[in-house]
Amino acid sequence: MRQARPVQQGTGPAGGAGAPAPPDVVAERSEATSLAGDAAAHLEAARRLREVLQSQTGPRTVTNTLVPYDEIAIHVDAAANRCGLLERVHPDPAVREAAEKWTQEMSQFATQLSLDRAVYDALSTLDVTAEDEATQHYVARTLRDFRRAGVDRDPAVRARVQDLNDELTLIGQEFARNIQSDRRTVSLLPSELDGLPADYIVAHPAGADGRVVVTTDYPDYVPFMSYAKSGAARERMYRAFRSRAVPANLDVLDRMLARRHELAGLLGYRSWAHYITEDKMIASDTAANEFVQRIAAIAASRAGADYEMLLSRKQEDDPGAIEVFDWEKDYYDERVRAEHFQVDSQAMRPYFPYERVKQGVLDVTAKLFGVTYQRVEDASVWAPDVETYDILEDGVRLGRFHLDMHPRDDKYKHAAEFGIRNGIRGRQLPEAALVCNFPGGVAGDPGLMEHDDVNTFFHEFGHLLHALFAGRQRWIGIGGISTEWDFVEAPSQMLEEWAWDASVLRTFALHHETGEPIPEELVQRARRAREFGKGIYVRQQMFYARLSLQLHGGDPSRLDTTAVVRELQNETSMFRFIEDTHFQASFGHLEGYSAIYYTYMWSLVIAKDLFSRFRPENLFEPDVARAYRTHVLEAGGSAPAATLVERFLGRPFSFAAYERWLNAS
Ligand SMILES: [Zn+2]
Repeated sequence: MRQARPVQQGTGPAGGAGAPAPPDVVAERSEATSLAGDAAAHLEAARRLREVLQSQTGPRTVTNTLVPYDEIAIHVDAAANRCGLLERVHPDPAVREAAEKWTQEMSQFATQLSLDRAVYDALSTLDVTAEDEATQHYVARTLRDFRRAGVDRDPAVRARVQDLNDELTLIGQEFARNIQSDRRTVSLLPSELDGLPADYIVAHPAGADGRVVVTTDYPDYVPFMSYAKSGAARERMYRAFRSRAVPANLDVLDRMLARRHELAGLLGYRSWAHYITEDKMIASDTAANEFVQRIAAIAASRAGADYEMLLSRKQEDDPGAIEVFDWEKDYYDERVRAEHFQVDSQAMRPYFPYERVKQGVLDVTAKLFGVTYQRVEDASVWAPDVETYDILEDGVRLGRFHLDMHPRDDKYKHAAEFGIRNGIRGRQLPEAALVCNFPGGVAGDPGLMEHDDVNTFFHEFGHLLHALFAGRQRWIGIGGISTEWDFVEAPSQMLEEWAWDASVLRTFALHHETGEPIPEELVQRARRAREFGKGIYVRQQMFYARLSLQLHGGDPSRLDTTAVVRELQNETSMFRFIEDTHFQASFGHLEGYSAIYYTYMWSLVIAKDLFSRFRPENLFEPDVARAYRTHVLEAGGSAPAATLVERFLGRPFSFAAYERWLNAS
């Protein structure tokens, strides 16, 4: 997952002439007052530049128009991204509140700018035919984005567009905040922890009342659903998990859908899904719906076979069973892997203590891309357990990142990469953060991770490297992860492949007690078992994708969102909807991704194609990794994603590698 505040697309000056400016890496502000002061200064600077831009007379040139326009984007990027991160992670409620407020201010300004007819007219008279290809692409994209924002509508429409955008910022924050702050607990008998790993049981002792408390945070919830023998206890956990942010977000979601629909209509679109897909690789909601149907159909027979294996395993416990329930799928999935494929993910956990995995991710990516990482001990960060690193190549610093990897109260609950600042060639270095909720970070706890967590770590690191490597474009708006949104999950999903290679894993996955590397054969079995469950996984993903498209597919005024979840889950997921649950209330992607959850599978199609250039015998071939870094990652948003992929592959991308993957046994 990736989180970033929308930044008004800008073009930027780039240090065309003269020596590059010294690197200037920002430190996180940890006080509410300094955060607010800093954001206010950026906003003020952006406002002044906008006035300069409006008041120019005479012919428009790159220097008098593009340069100030880009300067605005630099200021918005700096303040909006930092606030967007801190409102999700800062331990001090005053800072989170200040960050939320300044996120609103920056969004409001960005919307005003996107509706500024004078700025649009100035940019549209600019002659960029003599400029480089990236600049031409960027200006064309910026003008299109202005039109999509409604800049050429009449003043009354533009005023309403502004109000709707401002309101949507607030609604989105409310939706995310409700999920972030709602941690449910379930009180259990110690015997209901039967089946869980020993270290989990040690970490969850009974209280004075003889009960054990387990929370809905991932490190508690995920192992519980895989290992707890008690189906009744799992059902209670499942219901608690699927009740997060209920009832608050049911109402928030209704408002979010209504305002998006109104906004889309004002801008001339049938629906929000119609509007939001237009500037993506997929280009329309019709194509997105067709894609989702196509993938669900391709996966159908495979998903049916997967389901039969879960059901027959359940029938060993309960001979009369005719169905696997949603709170049983992780448990029976785990049983089938353990018993049929002899893969027990508990057998892998001792090889994945957090600290070793972290070092492994760093070492693997350093080797792959020819860079080094250096720990920065004295960086100013938002919480004491956040670690900071610089990324270097040949001793030259390329950027900085922070790792905030373990749960904390009132912290963002999922796993995501957050941009903090986009880089610009010769002017400023990129900075980004990973925010995750992995085990570890507690004294005396080795922080044993699931292999799934290791996979997620590689995934998020893929986003991080994209953000950092793309930090040397000429303009800020085509720097960093500024590519089409439905391409964003391709680099991250491709990097997951390194988490499944035995020779890669054996370099860092050492048993936390004996120091032995993970047995090759254990990884091979995990790889075979990985094939199992693909059909169920794809159908589940298509359930989410259909849900996100359909909630945004038309007039929501009489929509019962729970009824939509029920209908689509029953049709597409392999597991029936459970009454009195409300998944949509904690489906965080509805805020950031709105209608376009399909992007994960779309990106996976491309990721499988990208990965096909690496030879399985050697995932570290320097030429391939270098070409990938240059053509795909470093290029950022300097050309359409399909072009970047074609430059790397030497041909347009296709579905072939993906279909081979899905159908392979
Ligand atoms: Zn992602």
